[in-house]
Amino acid sequence: MSGNPITSTIPLDEDGEHHGFLRLPYSRDDSAWGSVMIPITVIKNGVGPSALLTGANHGDEYEGPIALMDLAMSLKAGDIEGRVIILPAMNYPAFRAGTRTSPIDRGNMNRSFPGSPSGTVTEKIADYIQTVLLPEASIVLDFHSGGRTLDFIPFASAHVLENKEQQAACVAAVEAFNAPYSMIMLEIDNVGMYDTSVEDQGKTFVTTELGGGGTSTARSNAIAKKGVRNVLKHAGIMKGELDLSASVMLDMPDDDCFVFSHDDGMIEAMKDLGEEVEKGEIVARVWPVDRTGRPPLDYRARRSGILASRHFPGLVKAGDCVAVIAVKV
Ligand SMILES: [Zn+2]
Repeated sequence: MSGNPITSTIPLDEDGEHHGFLRLPYSRDDSAWGSVMIPITVIKNGVGPSALLTGANHGDEYEGPIALMDLAMSLKAGDIEGRVIILPAMNYPAFRAGTRTSPIDRGNMNRSFPGSPSGTVTEKIADYIQTVLLPEASIVLDFHSGGRTLDFIPFASAHVLENKEQQAACVAAVEAFNAPYSMIMLEIDNVGMYDTSVEDQGKTFVTTELGGGGTSTARSNAIAKKGVRNVLKHAGIMKGELDLSASVMLDMPDDDCFVFSHDDGMIEAMKDLGEEVEKGEIVARVWPVDRTGRPPLDYRARRSGILASRHFPGLVKAGDCVAVIAVKV
């Protein structure tokens, strides 16, 4: 397997429920022959499609790890036909630190693909997923949220793809996930993303943004738990009817969806998530933090739509994403 140093402590292709670790040797000051132990569960029953389910691609996003730990504990081989590979915390060192990127190498997992078997810890994990796990999967679900610095309306999303048949399969799986919103998402910069690796391997892919602020809510966790089961049913792996309610279809057609700050300061939200916004309306103001008697700077929507994402912490820096406006289809 391409010289990657990671080994699995459980079989990836045996019937039953197996809970274990991907063990990545990591020699360091406090453990000369130590390892990073990345939790993994594989549940398999006979012949059928395989799903790869991942969370904590960014370490400070929690709906994925919660829904996947819950699934790993509750799903039994007898409930499925095929295989479910569950990796609740892809960037496990980041997950343990509660940070977006890895404390070991500052690696941003979603900018580290396709990875390298001889690279940093983050690159080795990416390479193992790229070369060992991904080729096994027919459908892939990767959970995201806003992390500590962004907050989102809850949506599942697919990307615009050159292969329209693959795109249709991804959109159908997004609809099956059935978050309150479904999005055709535009990426700011897709180089190195897991998403791109998955899509380049021709897989059906669903990603999400379910909340943010470095935590999760009862509502966002319920959306994640329902969504993952719906996707497994949609893929024909899990038995039973999909649990469906209304979902609003959204689009992010171009760069005009994004509003970036040009200033450091204190952010005052003028719109809340899910609110309608008219082009030219103020979505946020940025106040100077160091004096009184100066007006705030206004940040305006560059298109009409609904507020899909916002900067989360109270302080903002130049270059931060202040707001994302999505368009109802
Ligand atoms: Zn993320």
